[in-house]
Amino acid sequence: MQCPKCGADSKVYDSKPGREPFTRIRVRDCPNGHMFKTVEGLLPAEDVPPRATQTPRDVTDRIIRLIADEAGIEVGAILGRQRSPKVIEARVRAIRTIAAEFPGWSFARIAKIFSMDYSTVGYWLKDDAFRTAKRAATRERNLER
Ligand SMILES: [Zn+2]
Repeated sequence: MQCPKCGADSKVYDSKPGREPFTRIRVRDCPNGHMFKTVEGLLPAEDVPPRATQTPRDVTDRIIRLIADEAGIEVGAILGRQRSPKVIEARVRAIRTIAAEFPGWSFARIAKIFSMDYSTVGYWLKDDAFRTAKRAATRERNLER
């Protein structure tokens, strides 16, 4: 994203959940020392529900369903035991979106949704684990073409 002051390419300096579900506030900086904030949606805006009317379960169900739809797989696949790269990537994205949306939740609480061990949630929240999952899914998609 370009710096609004000088037009140089900016980098993300910090990132935290926004006030609305599925949004993140990013603090960015450019090589010329300008800092600015952006609010970025993780999902299409029309799919963002108002927080007040949603229980945590509604929000986690919705996150999982939207990510499943986007990946072209069933919700049951995300919640199940399938190990194909495409399913793993979607499952990891769901775990990370829920963790960002509910920063106070323990690994164990998130793990319960996916019937997995809490240490597995901790593993998938590591950026390099996520990058590896994304790379594997990209390879799989390229092979399908
Ligand atoms: Zn700048």
